[in-house]
Amino acid sequence: MASLTRFSVKPLSTMTRQLAAVAAGRADPDVVIKGARVLSTYSERLLADREIWLTGGRIAAVKPSGAHKGSAARIHDARGSIVAPGLVDPHIHIESSMVTACAYAEAALLNGTTTIFCDSHEIGNVMDVGGVEAMLEDARQAPLSIFLTVPSTVPATSPRLETAGGDLTAAKIAALFDKWPEAVALGEKMDFVQVAMGDERSHAILAASLERGRPVSGHVYGREFVAAYAASGVTDTHEAIDREIADEMLEAGIWLFLRGGPPTTPWHSLPQAIKTVTELGASHKRVAVCTDDRDAHDLMLFGLDWVTREAIKAGMTPQQAWAMGSLHGATRFGMDGEIGGMGGGRRADLVLLDDDHKPVSTWYGGELVVEDGKITPRLDEALSTRYRYPDAAYHTVKLPKQVKLTPPLPTGTVVAHTIKTELPGITLGHVTVRLEPAKTWQDHFDKHGLCFVTVVERHAKSAGNVAYGLLSNFNLKRGAVASSVGHDSHNIIDVRAFMPGPDGPLPPFPKPELLKLPWPIRLWRWPWWPWWWWWYCWGCISAKRAQQVFDAMSATSCAPLTVPAPCIPFLYPDDGCWARAHEMCRLMINMGLSPRKVWIDASTHLHVNTKNNPNCFVEWGWHVAPTLCVRGPYFFQHQEMVIDPSLFTTPVSKATWKGVQGDPGATLTDTDATQFWHGGGDDPTYSNTNYYLNVYRLALQARAVQVGPPPYAYCP
Ligand SMILES: [Zn+2]
Repeated sequence: MASLTRFSVKPLSTMTRQLAAVAAGRADPDVVIKGARVLSTYSERLLADREIWLTGGRIAAVKPSGAHKGSAARIHDARGSIVAPGLVDPHIHIESSMVTACAYAEAALLNGTTTIFCDSHEIGNVMDVGGVEAMLEDARQAPLSIFLTVPSTVPATSPRLETAGGDLTAAKIAALFDKWPEAVALGEKMDFVQVAMGDERSHAILAASLERGRPVSGHVYGREFVAAYAASGVTDTHEAIDREIADEMLEAGIWLFLRGGPPTTPWHSLPQAIKTVTELGASHKRVAVCTDDRDAHDLMLFGLDWVTREAIKAGMTPQQAWAMGSLHGATRFGMDGEIGGMGGGRRADLVLLDDDHKPVSTWYGGELVVEDGKITPRLDEALSTRYRYPDAAYHTVKLPKQVKLTPPLPTGTVVAHTIKTELPGITLGHVTVRLEPAKTWQDHFDKHGLCFVTVVERHAKSAGNVAYGLLSNFNLKRGAVASSVGHDSHNIIDVRAFMPGPDGPLPPFPKPELLKLPWPIRLWRWPWWPWWWWWYCWGCISAKRAQQVFDAMSATSCAPLTVPAPCIPFLYPDDGCWARAHEMCRLMINMGLSPRKVWIDASTHLHVNTKNNPNCFVEWGWHVAPTLCVRGPYFFQHQEMVIDPSLFTTPVSKATWKGVQGDPGATLTDTDATQFWHGGGDDPTYSNTNYYLNVYRLALQARAVQVGPPPYAYCP
């Protein structure tokens, strides 16, 4: 029997005379599907009593019931059902399902999906061009229409953080486009900060796609970046998490792919983002639905058909939702002449639906591949011979014979920066713990709820590099678990509890040093009081001097439209307080002062009214500002005053500072000026400080350009 792939249906250019003959009634169709209600994605109507004429794997015509008079055609009785075009998934990663393209095809067809646009970003990160090309060979042999959006951001992070197996330069990406016609677009350009900041490599990759007339897919968080992103030629995104950013992207000319994911995860952003249509009145004509990533198990539970039904649940009509699941993805990639609807000449990729819009049967290129929810013998046979990946693909884990998976036990007191895990699992926390000397790791783990996490690099160029860390809140008490699957570099992550065993001799237990307490007994005698005061308030400044320092800080505030470095973006209070605080401390230290910092952590959330945000408020989980010791208001007194020009015009007490942040249950923590990150860690060279100051200067500038410079006079 003939193979069943995307190429089983001949190109339209070779079939027009045959199709015209059938549509005009001069020749008999191969297949007639009778008595169906047709879901039209073109007019978004349900058309009663139609029959669909197929020939050579394409739709010749959709006609009123009873139009077919011939006798040669195979008749399929679809009475009572809805027939709709096969679903088109405009953005997925096959590797996330940990199956090959051929295996993915089976699950897709069962869900009524007949075309996918995949981004083989993960195999690209492991095997570079070789992996992407192997997957393209796999895709060509699969019974599914698979197009490639060429991975655009490999490696996905800085090589200073970890080593990936791939390095897809602009030249390699250009060569992929030129060699593979199914490479129809550039895949999600996820380094949106670099794109917005004009990074040379990122823009060379964009150019490789644009100069070949291929569109660019995106991935962006943060409204501040939308304008620069659109201006860089990006024309779709699947990362809109709420209706406001969704709205902004639509207006910037960016197609919106609403992502549905398992409902307990943060990936299920569709119900929020779709409100741009259901609440803000935007048209859905440039809105599609997609799946992005699926565990193999979830493929059958949360396929694109399920996402489409979620769109119905969120308020779209079934016809609108199905158009978002088929025609719109096709149109976005310029393929609506071939797929996404049931017009004449289109591929006969069809789905038969029940009244709940659940797929019952699927035709792929005119062949029945799923019938009553089960794959047909035709598909079973097509799947029995599958593409085999080259041997190299099975040998991508390169490790030395011995890798030590746990770090040595610290002998003295150390501060450990641990990674806090938290469900649903997309965001990690940073928690510092103080490890006093102990006999074994078990003592630390019991006390702080920790376990080991070790990353072992597995790519040839870095094989065996090991980094040790500690996880908190992971609740692993015994045993170990490891994975070589981890977006994006796919290094090996090993998580384990403490296992007693030969691990070298235990270090001697150090004696804790007794703390030498000063005992200022003499100070009780009255003649010493003034000296005591000077000693106690040493390093503190007058209230007048504090105001001068405050004004010096305010004077560095960025002009919103030009943001000349080294200005401080006080007028962008949304984010980046840690960089502002660190820069202020640097300036104060240069002025001969001894600043400290105060950190506030919300019990629920911090809410501050401000004229410097178009919403007239900002919300934080935490915030930080420098403090200075200020003498007064009375003799013998001093207090730490907070210097925070993002909120105030004068130094304020910590109580006042906390008071405006609207969360009486919030907690304050004092640290010295060297702490840079929330939770610990310094930045002695100010490289991180400068990086983040620049990010938020640009964010301020972007906002000023878009909605006008702050302050916003309409705010109360
Ligand atoms: Zn993606």
